[in-house]
Amino acid sequence: MKTPICDICIKSGMLCPACQKHLESGRISPRDVELSQHLYALVKEGTLPDTISLLQTFEIDDTVVVVVPPDDVGTLIGRGGKIVKQLQKVMHRKLRVVAQTTDARRIVHDLLYPAKVVAVNKLYLPDGTIRKKMRIRTEGKKKLPMNLKTVTGIIERMTAETVEIVTE
Ligand SMILES: [Zn+2]
Repeated sequence: MKTPICDICIKSGMLCPACQKHLESGRISPRDVELSQHLYALVKEGTLPDTISLLQTFEIDDTVVVVVPPDDVGTLIGRGGKIVKQLQKVMHRKLRVVAQTTDARRIVHDLLYPAKVVAVNKLYLPDGTIRKKMRIRTEGKKKLPMNLKTVTGIIERMTAETVEIVTE
């Protein structure tokens, strides 16, 4: 198991001087610490495999974004969202699990599934910046699981790209 805090801190539930320093400098966040310890509890009881990794968390609007290696996304969400729902309950926060990637499409897939990205266009703005316009299609007029402003904020934070998402 790998998380932003060290093994000793995961297991002890307290912070060692090194991790404490990272927390104070902002290299890790209180949410990283909290989630790492909850994940350890789930590994210990056998709900999660001990190969699970937490890379980082960040907060945007009312959501804690949980960044993990691509292979761990499904594991952490759990069947029917079982594990992520359990974590949301103990943390009293909305959590969204995404793969560590700079591919905006993949992030949209993780956050807005079952909506699909059907087209991506690059817009070259007069000031020299590039904005990606992503068109998505929702299945059977289902409500999107997350508001689009939050999704674009997450993409901008993870990929350093400016994006716009439109539904069709
Ligand atoms: Zn530590």
